[in-house]
Amino acid sequence: MKRLVILGSTGSIGTQTLEIVRANKDLFVTALAAGRSVEKLEEQIREFHPSYAVMWSEEAAADLRQRVSDLPVKVLSGMDGLIEISSLDGYDILVTAIVGMIGIRPTIAGIKNKKTIALANKETMVTAGHIIIPLAKEMGVQILPVDSEHSAIFQSMNGEPKKGIERIWLTASGGPFRGWSREQMRSVRVEDALKHPNWSMGRKITIDSATMVNKGLEVMEAKWLFDVDYDHINVVVHPQSIVHSMVEYKDGAVIAQLGVPDMKLPIQYALFYPERRPMDQKKPDFYKIASLTFEKPDPEEFEGLKLADMAGRRGGSLPTVFNAANEKAVALFLDRKIGFLEITDLIRRSLEHHKVIDDPDVEQILEAETETYEYISHLEA
Ligand code: NDP
Repeated sequence: MKRLVILGSTGSIGTQTLEIVRANKDLFVTALAAGRSVEKLEEQIREFHPSYAVMWSEEAAADLRQRVSDLPVKVLSGMDGLIEISSLDGYDILVTAIVGMIGIRPTIAGIKNKKTIALANKETMVTAGHIIIPLAKEMGVQILPVDSEHSAIFQSMNGEPKKGIERIWLTASGGPFRGWSREQMRSVRVEDALKHPNWSMGRKITIDSATMVNKGLEVMEAKWLFDVDYDHINVVVHPQSIVHSMVEYKDGAVIAQLGVPDMKLPIQYALFYPERRPMDQKKPDFYKIASLTFEKPDPEEFEGLKLADMAGRRGGSLPTVFNAANEKAVALFLDRKIGFLEITDLIRRSLEHHKVIDDPDVEQILEAETETYEYISHLEA
């Protein structure tokens, strides 16, 4: 039996996690948290019977409290609520399916509480990996990646001694605009960018895939999760999204994990690790897959990747600025206030403007986030 606390249960990863709970009688939900989706969280509470629920605003929490007053569930709110449910005794795995740096403090609380972390919330690792990884080591806590590429790397490293690893090959689909010139990308609309060729995901990460910023964030996430430096992480464009990533060993062997593009597999793998449970989903049919192709990404075409590499290598507070600038720029793009190429423009300008803090603590990370938001608002004014 495993009991879960799910942060971001109403989102893309959160709802898929609950589909897995629905399909497995030995998984239980202790607590659920969402931002604003009161109605959806109410439905989830009625189906999965958690003891706790959290809404971001107190107003939304009050609404939810009233809606579920017939049920024995305690409804909390805000960061205090997220930290309280992550610090509970009676559960086994904290699923961080929340979006953004808001995940840092609850993740730290879960690690201090010695709970296994099933980590989807890459922003936490990108901005606070230097805090999270040593803390997890100190507390003896396992961080199991949910991101499909990192799950693939994790699966490809199973049982292999770390000293034998030469490099990580992180695969990228290339998104909907692979092969497009910058001129063509200038007129991309929100609807175009939201159409990912292979994966069905939340809105922000779908835009991040189109700009390849997502891949840049994943490189930084991989650096922390697997303790491999930037010179030994290569991004390779693989449009079919069948090879989810690969690990090359010093003897030249390359081990990969393959599968259809479906997040349920990496989520389920993290929830039952090291067990492999049967799963009712499509399997790759190698008789039908005509070819698997690989290309080197063009750094001019995908500026997001280039800027992420620069921010990651410099480290300190710069990955936070990269992430925060991207969050703000994507929100502006989704609101149709800026064009597609301006997303990376705003990231570049924010990186250039920031005075880097080496080894920032959580307060300083959150300050760098706020400063970046303010800087972009000031540019927009
Ligand atoms: P979604 O936008 O679909 O969902 C985000 C979830 O977080 C929602 O439940 C949302 O609640 C909740 N949330 C947002 N803000 C708050 C807040 N302040 N307090 C509490 N809950 C909040 O995102 P995804 O599921 O796509 O992504 C989640 C994370 O997983 C991201 O870090 C992403 O990078 C990562 N990831 C996602 C993948 C995917 O396939 N989607 C793949 C790999 C990684 P509400 O509904 O109320 O707004």
